[in-house]
Amino acid sequence: MSREAILAAVKAAGVVGAGGAGFPTHTKLAASADAIIANGAECEPLLQVDRELLSHYLDEVLVGLEVARETVGAERAYLAVKAKYEALITQLRTAVASRPWLQIAPLPDIYPIGDEQRLVYEVLGRIVPARGIPIQVGAVVLNVETLYNIAGAYVGQPVINTYITVNGAVAEPGTWAVPVGTTIQDVIKWASPVLEPSELAVIEGGPMMGRLVEDLSQPVTKTTKGLIILPQFHTVVTRLRSEAAALRRAFSVCSQCTMCTDLCPRHLLGHPLWPHRIMRSLAGSTASDPEAIAGALLCSECGVCDSYACFMGLSPRQVNQALKQQLSTHAKPQFVNLDEVREGFAASQIPSQRLTYRQDLVRWVKDAPFMGTLPEPDRVLIRLDQHVGMTAHCVLELGQEVSPGTLVGNLPDGELGALVHSSIHGVVCGIEDEVVIIERGGRDG
Ligand code: SF4
Ligand code: SF4
Repeated sequence: MSREAILAAVKAAGVVGAGGAGFPTHTKLAASADAIIANGAECEPLLQVDRELLSHYLDEVLVGLEVARETVGAERAYLAVKAKYEALITQLRTAVASRPWLQIAPLPDIYPIGDEQRLVYEVLGRIVPARGIPIQVGAVVLNVETLYNIAGAYVGQPVINTYITVNGAVAEPGTWAVPVGTTIQDVIKWASPVLEPSELAVIEGGPMMGRLVEDLSQPVTKTTKGLIILPQFHTVVTRLRSEAAALRRAFSVCSQCTMCTDLCPRHLLGHPLWPHRIMRSLAGSTASDPEAIAGALLCSECGVCDSYACFMGLSPRQVNQALKQQLSTHAKPQFVNLDEVREGFAASQIPSQRLTYRQDLVRWVKDAPFMGTLPEPDRVLIRLDQHVGMTAHCVLELGQEVSPGTLVGNLPDGELGALVHSSIHGVVCGIEDEVVIIERGGRDG
């Protein structure tokens, strides 16, 4: 297949970055790079999707990696996986032996090693410019599930399932392939929560960077990687719930101990980001330290500062989130090239185990093996905005019958975004601004 045909196939399949915000993958593959990294780091506690995909679908992931490597023109490809998964690494070594273009990049068990910028430094020794992206240093980073989906696109299969770990306060933790658009309540029941509905909270994503789910009737999307169930008053839940209060307290209580800056992974990489200075500056006036305030745009929202570093219970991350919304409408990206990481980089890495302990998650860490594909639910809610870029427009009509893979949402030529497809057999029973509702049944159902 030609490069153009591959890009068209990946676009037609609606492949997006499965491990992050959903950047359209065909756009990422249109670049040229000398190295490509398969990101299997999965550094959030309790998540297990990447490991299960590598273990059960290694051939597909490697097809996706080879297709992606050839498309961007990279000489080398790296499979980045934590070194502690020895059995998996042994399995990977066999695959690598017959592929001279591929090598394993064993990773330390630290947080947030899966952050693209941190990963590029770990694997290639290159520092992505502040506010930049890996392609600026000749690298493309793709999540393992994204590579699996590229392999599907290569044989004409659109993205209709998303891989999700359900873990925490459940009797049967596991990782499932879930039809996109299944509601969160329909997914979590398969793991058998051990708490009453009134006693539990659900986090979409991981406990560090995830978000608290307010409405369990919301659907999972192509980027949902985890559903973590915890007691209502668990440390992590309380932290996620306390945003407003944290912002109010932040500026008056901060002791300027600098721990948030000393441990900030982006600061350690050399980025001009000093969370403690942001806190100090906002305690007075936003004009008092404009260099520090601008640094908020560099925050990856990894949560090290509020979940791990700050003993006062403050959240520079939430302050940065709020600042980003104000700053990003005014500021143009200004890349800052960085020559070397900061002094203290090596000594300030955060072991995942210590993080898990600090977040009171030890008792909830359970093996969540791959359990197969969930059956089609009674209805799915297919969001038209599961990706970065323009919201797709619905191409279906009420009452129309669909099958898995039927195109639901399209985009005008040249617009950044991704196509979306039906994940089940059924009939369109609702079309709203950003959601198409499909009920199971119809000719094939
Ligand atoms: S760690 Fe907490 S108290 Fe210390 S400087 Fe940062 S926000 Fe302030
Ligand atoms: S969330 Fe905190 S630790 Fe993480 S990059 Fe932002 S300021 Fe640094």
